[in-house]
Amino acid sequence: MELSALKTTSKRIDILHSMNIYSMEDILYHFPYRYDIIEESYESDHMIIEASVITQPKIFFRGKMSRMSFEVVDHYNHHYQVVIFNRHYLRTHLTPSSTITILGKCQNNKITASDIKIKPLSEIAGIHPVYSLKEGLNQKSFLLYVKKAYQLLKDDLISEVPEEYIIKHHLIHKDIAIYNIHFPDSKQDIKQSLKYLKYEEFLKFQLTMQLTKFNRSSQNGIAKTIDLDQLQSFIIALPFKLTHDQSMAVKEIVDDLQKPQMMYRFLQGDVGSGKTVVGAIALYANYLSGYQGALMAPTEILASQHYQTLSNFFKNTTVNIALLTGSLSTKEKNEIYEKLQNGEIDIIVGTHALFQKKVNYKNLGFVITDEQHRFGVEQRKALKNKGKQVDFLIMSATPIPRTLAIALYGDMDVSTIKSKPAGRQEVETKFIESSSMKPILKHLKDYLASGGQCYVICPLVDESEKLEVRNATQISEAMRSYFANQYQVGLLHGQLKDDEKNEIMQQFIDNKIQILVSTTVVEVGVDVKNANMMIIYNAERFGMSQLHQLRGRIGRGNQKAYCYLMSDQASDEAKERLHYLESCQDGFDLSMYDLKLRGPGEVLGERQSGLPSFLVGDVLKDYNILEIARNDASNMIMAYQNQKMYAYTIERILEKLKENNEYVD
Ligand code: ADP
Ligand code: MG
Repeated sequence: MELSALKTTSKRIDILHSMNIYSMEDILYHFPYRYDIIEESYESDHMIIEASVITQPKIFFRGKMSRMSFEVVDHYNHHYQVVIFNRHYLRTHLTPSSTITILGKCQNNKITASDIKIKPLSEIAGIHPVYSLKEGLNQKSFLLYVKKAYQLLKDDLISEVPEEYIIKHHLIHKDIAIYNIHFPDSKQDIKQSLKYLKYEEFLKFQLTMQLTKFNRSSQNGIAKTIDLDQLQSFIIALPFKLTHDQSMAVKEIVDDLQKPQMMYRFLQGDVGSGKTVVGAIALYANYLSGYQGALMAPTEILASQHYQTLSNFFKNTTVNIALLTGSLSTKEKNEIYEKLQNGEIDIIVGTHALFQKKVNYKNLGFVITDEQHRFGVEQRKALKNKGKQVDFLIMSATPIPRTLAIALYGDMDVSTIKSKPAGRQEVETKFIESSSMKPILKHLKDYLASGGQCYVICPLVDESEKLEVRNATQISEAMRSYFANQYQVGLLHGQLKDDEKNEIMQQFIDNKIQILVSTTVVEVGVDVKNANMMIIYNAERFGMSQLHQLRGRIGRGNQKAYCYLMSDQASDEAKERLHYLESCQDGFDLSMYDLKLRGPGEVLGERQSGLPSFLVGDVLKDYNILEIARNDASNMIMAYQNQKMYAYTIERILEKLKENNEYVD
């Protein structure tokens, strides 16, 4: 139903639009973010009383601040002196003998009020929803909109949770849940509403994921024929022995490639756990079956590094591998396009350039994307559509516990690499409460003198990339003048052109630069074995997973590595996080810590990976509901397929999926 049903001004409608509210239904789904609960009883040191004003308020100003005082009397004939700050605008309402309600602290008949309502207590007691609103719209008018929306829509609020599950989980019905979340009479009302709404949200999410997965697996993929002996020889010829987890992941992927269904698999592992080689083996298996493969990386630096690594792995094979990035000349690009079209190139590594319109493949059969959280769903789709039924593998370095991954990425299969290659040393991490390098300067100088290279990571700035660049530039200049001609300092940031970035990175790899000052563009993937010290400025601004990612850039060879987390303005909570990093080297553990602290959006990059952000459900706190919903969804789908049960719920979701072209009959 359209918002015009509100019969309000177009200005108000614009405000609603800016709050992502486009329909009457959206109004009902804009839930309060908290409730003010006003009880007619004394609460700890706070009190609430109804009283009549006796004296004219007196007001004192100091600058813009004000202090207003006046006298009141309550029903028991107690007199109080009331003081309230910065509310002088209430003066005109505080006429003698008017009845008001005061909230505040009381001592010796003196009340320091935190709020005053120009109303009797009977009109304000109860539970009041508080909505997050944009300027120009107040709580009262929004509540009227909610009332109107509820009146108009209440008969259409049919529970999407089937009756059977409502009974099984002791839930209330949807119309009551929606009513009570906006107009609760008690805390119990809110609790019951939330229980229904969370369950419904997770159930719909799970149904969506599982139906998508089911649909995908019912479409014909390519059952690839792979010469497993030849694959085995390739694996044996690698410069190292695979870890147990790597072997398991390889097995899962190779099995998938041979199945007649499309693969849609998520490969997660901690930084340095060795995902690249697993990807390389998978690409080789796909090559042996006669199909082209593609590996897509989020940055040009990472793409060219992958290209070098893979070229090395494939050097004694007949694989023809190429690199396609934006910075190639038109002539070079055209050459690659031609070879992709006629099948001369077997494996292509690149950035977004891989799925531009001009690029056509002869027989693309398999696509890997690295560091999934930097890629949009749209981009992945575009690449996938270059081949008909390509198998798809996503590699991610933001690990989450497998059970949580399964619940969240319900439409994918998950492979997890937990163990690290043997002999890998931990990165010695130290939190330094300082904003300058002074405390670590001696170590840095000794380290450089011993022939090592160092990363210096600059503060993350929320407001703009420009500020980050300015910071990085200042720091690099300071380093340059300090080390004069002794060491070379390079500067890397997001506003450089791709070929400039590549050149600097290459100089660092070749040890022509010893100190690389960088913004977080260096975060993903790069592998420079001689660089074993990292200094991170303003470490308090980064998430734990991100710091762990950053520090994963060092300690990649077999030398001892040091990471300094610098911060002189960390809050107590941030200090705790930084100290935690000193002792914990487990990415799974850290990402859980981050999840709890900052929520899944921050950690999983959910907007980009296509996960909906949940309105009421909390992936961690309500994990048990998510699990229950997962089982229920899978039972419901089975019952639907066998006996057309739960058609109302399931067909609504199928309709939506078809609308978004995510479902093929
Ligand atoms: P990530 O999972 O972070 O992408 P990489 O694939 O870049 O990790 O691997 C990190 C380093 O570990 C690379 O230098 C790689 O050659 C090495 N490596 C990978 N697997 C093994 C192994 N089984 N034994 C020894 N070294 C390995
Ligand atoms: Mg990697």
